[in-house]
Amino acid sequence: MMRVILAAAAMSSTVWAQGIDYAKIEILTEKLAPNLYILSGSAGADPGHEDAAGGRIGILVGPDGIFMVDAQYAQITDKVLASIRKISNEPIRFLVNTHVHPDHTAGDAFFVKQGALLFDREELRDELLRQPARGNAPPADPARLPVVTYGMGDPVKLRLNGEIVDLIPVRAAHTGGDTMIRFENADVIMIGDFYRNYGYPFIDTNNGGTLKGALEALDETMKIAGPNTRLVPGHGTIIHREDIVPYRDMILDVQSKVQKMIDQGKSVQEVIAAKVTTPYDAKVPGGLERAGNGTSADRFVSMVYSQLKTAK
Ligand SMILES: [Zn+2]
Repeated sequence: MMRVILAAAAMSSTVWAQGIDYAKIEILTEKLAPNLYILSGSAGADPGHEDAAGGRIGILVGPDGIFMVDAQYAQITDKVLASIRKISNEPIRFLVNTHVHPDHTAGDAFFVKQGALLFDREELRDELLRQPARGNAPPADPARLPVVTYGMGDPVKLRLNGEIVDLIPVRAAHTGGDTMIRFENADVIMIGDFYRNYGYPFIDTNNGGTLKGALEALDETMKIAGPNTRLVPGHGTIIHREDIVPYRDMILDVQSKVQKMIDQGKSVQEVIAAKVTTPYDAKVPGGLERAGNGTSADRFVSMVYSQLKTAK
């Protein structure tokens, strides 16, 4: 059992750290609405995210100043800023993070120094404070910490640039401090990483994420999204509400298979060796690529195993 815990810890701290070719990353801009853009890193430079380096950024522009979602790796903030400046020269006024991971937050301090007021979940702030001890952290610059924090409860609403932006807290899903960011008029929700369509689901249990919370977050997303709402994950392709159904069903199916093997007294090694994701592997791009100590499928199955074990 101890070996399992150590392996899981080692996996999650190395996921984003290894071998990223920052110089090779280009920033690609996509327009979602007249004043709403997303910025993504190019493919083939980030082994943890082969399809697009780092986490996706959202940019709402207009006369009230720029509102920004996530801030990418610290090493590429100059490129991100240059891409923003191609869209707008307004001041960068607000920044919020979907969750704590460095591919979404490591650039925060840089954008705070550009003038952004940083909003985060209180839990995310706690996770940031814990990061130096994990050895995968950006430098402990006080500017990386949010000025405004919020907990579970009603969404924080910002009204600017003709848009109503809702910061919707999500209980313990991909991490313990997840937020979905909804742009009401554009009908776009940036959902962070509790959903992904490149590789199998990743729940960061070391940072308070839970499988149960991720499933609840998927249900919640299906409730608040309309049929045409564009759901923008932190990685992978833009999806719609209907795309969540097979994803959720896959998780529930894997969960029940793993539960059955737990009931038969199988070890995590035996459960991983049983390859319970096989029926889905052809439909999950990147599912069999390396992630941590095994494939993304292995990481997913071992997470499901340990979540079901601890739920007992
Ligand atoms: Zn993440």
